[in-house]
Amino acid sequence: MTTHTEVKTYLNYINGEWHSSDTGKTSESFNPSNKDEVLGSFQLSSSNDLDNAVEAAKAGQKVWRKLSGTARGDFLYKVASVLESKIEYVAEAMTKEMGKTFTEAKGETARGVAILRYYAGEGMRPVGDVIPSSDSEALMFTNRVPLGVIGVITPWNFPVAIPIWKMAPALIYGNSVVLKPASDTAVTAARVVECFHEAGMPAGVINMVTGSGSVIGQGLAEHPGVDGITFTGSNAVGKQIGRAALDRGIKYQLEMGGKNPVIVANDADLDLAVEATISGGLKSTGQKCTATSRVIVQSGVYETFREKLVKKVAEITVGDGMENDNWMGPVASENQLNNVLSYIEKGIAEGAELLHGGNQLTDGAKSNGYFIEPTVFDNVTSDMTIAREEIFGPVLALMKVDTMEQALEIANDSEYGLSASIFTTNIGNMLEFINDMEAGLVRVNAESAGVELQAPFGGMKQSSSHSREQGRAAIEFFTSIKTVFIKK
Ligand code: NAP
Ligand code: MG
Repeated sequence: MTTHTEVKTYLNYINGEWHSSDTGKTSESFNPSNKDEVLGSFQLSSSNDLDNAVEAAKAGQKVWRKLSGTARGDFLYKVASVLESKIEYVAEAMTKEMGKTFTEAKGETARGVAILRYYAGEGMRPVGDVIPSSDSEALMFTNRVPLGVIGVITPWNFPVAIPIWKMAPALIYGNSVVLKPASDTAVTAARVVECFHEAGMPAGVINMVTGSGSVIGQGLAEHPGVDGITFTGSNAVGKQIGRAALDRGIKYQLEMGGKNPVIVANDADLDLAVEATISGGLKSTGQKCTATSRVIVQSGVYETFREKLVKKVAEITVGDGMENDNWMGPVASENQLNNVLSYIEKGIAEGAELLHGGNQLTDGAKSNGYFIEPTVFDNVTSDMTIAREEIFGPVLALMKVDTMEQALEIANDSEYGLSASIFTTNIGNMLEFINDMEAGLVRVNAESAGVELQAPFGGMKQSSSHSREQGRAAIEFFTSIKTVFIKK
């Protein structure tokens, strides 16, 4: 049985204050390890609440943009310190709200702290270039100006890191923010926003409105007071948001799904490849946009790799992420449970061979949660649904190839292009992979799911709207370039 933390009703955060919605309606947030445990309630807000938040953000931004980058950075440093002092408080909400293990949740929250510090430092770094004018008596340069009010719409799978990696750069470059977090992790988001509040952020600079995607998310994308929208989530919703933003002529940024391959060459270090495939594919119960999904193995090592992989997968302990010895938690929700199980059924129906797992786990206390065995399919081909669609669960699909050319061809045979890995000791294989792999993140001898906060992140093809987040790249989305010409 898990311990119960304080069950309370979380409010919207508007203009530096906590407000309940004018609908008077709330929704409960459940623990996917134990659906009888309610973590808290959050507001089911109306478009009126959203209007108030956008109005506050507009006013807040007017003041915020006048501060120097250094002064804005000082605020972010303070938020980082508050969050750092509350890592366990925030991480506990994450584990109890979407299921990832407490170790992973603490790691993600610490990542949030580091992201805040990284962008705090950005407040002191160059934002433009001096460009030689053809007029010898003129000075020409570029400056970066904020967009204004940024709508931030985020998913449940990284409920701390993703909101922070969008909000921190938005803020440092002088924008204000209205956050609409995923409903499945609204309590975690509220605890993050509490840190901004406690750090003394000026009123209106950051606001949060919880509620349904179709009312608050869509409302944000269509709101005339919003100047830019950044979204991470599914392709279906992303496309809708992109269209709404295009109609209004505002800037938008979409980070969406993946179907990430790992290639294992005949010359690979197989133990390393097995370890990274498991870590990349099954950590966070496979619910990462960069999770390894397709495992493309060269025939010379196929049988050995498969044997080693299944042996290790069989050792994985599944259970409540708050209990220390569990390596893998539940999937995040009943919806996720049904989706993942239906993909497993499809895999079997379409002729893939189930090597390991495939079932919901219902023994003992697990019957109260959404646990699925780590699952490995063999003999998967590119035309199968489990090789084409994002599963977003603990499922690996093994695919056999003879040559590296075939491996790359299959790896690229996807509408997605987020991340990809190769395991090889051959420099030629590495170079061809780096050159020809259609993915925004390519990794050699490392798992597909590693993302460093100081480097650009984003996908090719259907995985993104082709902009990049994180690192210095974030400045491209969150600012507009102004070219200045001065003549004496
Ligand atoms: P989702 O259903 O698209 O939801 C994402 C966010 O959009 C949530 O806040 C959701 O609110 C909101 N939303 C739902 N319907 C909306 C609408 N009509 N208009 C505006 N907003 C709306 O995605 P998810 O299931 O939370 O997340 C899983 C997906 O995220 C996967 O496809 C995964 O690959 C992707 N992902 C991508 C990255 C990346 O960086 N590329 C990272 C992580 C996850 P509600 O929660 O209230 O429905
Ligand atoms: Mg939940």
